[in-house]
Amino acid sequence: MGSQEVSASQDSWKGLRVTVAGLGVSGVSVARALAGLGAAVTVVDGGSGPALQARAAELAEAGVAVRLGDAETLPEGTGLVVTSPGWKPDSPLFAAAAAAGVDVIGDVEVAWRLRGPGAAPWLAVTGTNGKTTTTQMLASILRAGGLRTAAVGNIGTPIVDVVLEDRAAREARAAGTGGERREDDNAYDVLAVELSSYQLHWAPSLRAHSAAVLNLAPDHLDWHGSMEAYAADKGRIYEGNQVACVYNADATAKPSTEDLVREADVEEGCRAIGFTLAAPAPSQLGVVEGILVDRAFVPDRQKQAQELAEVSDVRPPAPHNIANALAAAALARAFGVAPQAVRDGLRAFHPDAHRIEHVADVAGVAYVDDSKATNTHAAQASLAAYESIVWIAGGLAKGATFDELVAASAKRLRGAVLIGADRALIREALARHAPQVPVVDLDRTDTGAMAEAVRQAARLAAPGDTVLMAPACASMDMFTNYNKRGDAFAEAVRELGASA
Ligand code: ADP
Repeated sequence: MGSQEVSASQDSWKGLRVTVAGLGVSGVSVARALAGLGAAVTVVDGGSGPALQARAAELAEAGVAVRLGDAETLPEGTGLVVTSPGWKPDSPLFAAAAAAGVDVIGDVEVAWRLRGPGAAPWLAVTGTNGKTTTTQMLASILRAGGLRTAAVGNIGTPIVDVVLEDRAAREARAAGTGGERREDDNAYDVLAVELSSYQLHWAPSLRAHSAAVLNLAPDHLDWHGSMEAYAADKGRIYEGNQVACVYNADATAKPSTEDLVREADVEEGCRAIGFTLAAPAPSQLGVVEGILVDRAFVPDRQKQAQELAEVSDVRPPAPHNIANALAAAALARAFGVAPQAVRDGLRAFHPDAHRIEHVADVAGVAYVDDSKATNTHAAQASLAAYESIVWIAGGLAKGATFDELVAASAKRLRGAVLIGADRALIREALARHAPQVPVVDLDRTDTGAMAEAVRQAARLAAPGDTVLMAPACASMDMFTNYNKRGDAFAEAVRELGASA
């Protein structure tokens, strides 16, 4: 039965005319994988610059056709469209596909369909903020529990590549050792999968072992069309879950992540598991006197709670990050990982750069880079982690408003330094909700602007304060991306330290 399933799903790609939308990392990975399985693949992309042409030439060698300069018309005879995550649902190519009765799916759906029998189960994570951090924490915990895993999806190696690697390893195992695991066997036990709302939108048959929605705040609404549509795409992650649907029991947003669990159609016996920064109710994970505790995966949840780790094992121990750790722990525990592995995995975890990264202390002031706080929800979480802050903010607002963020953070602000194209929006919100806070408005967007911002922030700060760069905006008005913005901040702090 098992091997028939393998050949059936492999054969189903043979000769299929697949159009891949987008010549980016995921598009290249999908094109190669499906061409390798015998599909006739054409990648289409609206661009036609030298980098794309070089990539097209490489793909041609793998037998993949590439059409540059036209992202809109559907190639003749297309039987399936596979889109890259960023493409808008109302793109003309998809309208053409719909008119021709052709399905559109994403790279995650392709990966899901390519899993062979016995494939590694998926523990899936989504949310407006904290996805990457939580997925990496989860992978670290799973590893500490002795499991072979990878953090994939919206991060790391393209998910299609990892699924095919897993499948090949299993097939080799079945052929060579009668099903026993070998020393050099690199099949996975489980995958930690980060999924964006876009990827979920295009993954109709995905069925995770267990999944978490960390939080929901308005973001990417231009793509999804409305908050309801955005929430519905996030909620798809719970469909068909087998063991646990993990939700944020503290979130007050509507719809809540718990509402999304209620609406999902799950496997018989699958449980709703909440995480909270307060003491946990039965079937929740939470915090009691500085200890992360599990009151869900214990023999008697009415009477028992299991200690997992200390708050100080979570880096950085900011409230939103403890929530991330609890969500990761819930998924790992749903998979049967021992309590000890949660602690060891959290201790072994190192956050990626530019996510509440402590750069240096200069003259008793801490300088923290949270360049990845590119929306107001993230910046608000970041500001909540410090008592007295000089805030560096601004950039491209992407249609956001700043009143809620500023009102919630006003009492923590010693001062603010504003940079970037949309800084007036933040300045006006500060004038409305925090008129007592001194504001420096930097009217320049050249490359030296960040150094100037850091010097101004240093002037406003007193010993014991934190200068926090959590811009609540995208960076592209001044920098190539948020990494470069963070690097510029760190460089400026180093200069400040050298001259102090
Ligand atoms: P994502 O992958 O969802 O973009 P990251 O883990 O890369 O999330 O974190 C992005 C930013 O979001 C961080 O720099 C931090 O400011 C903020 N953040 C992280 N976790 C949370 C959370 N649980 N709630 C709110 N903001 C968060």
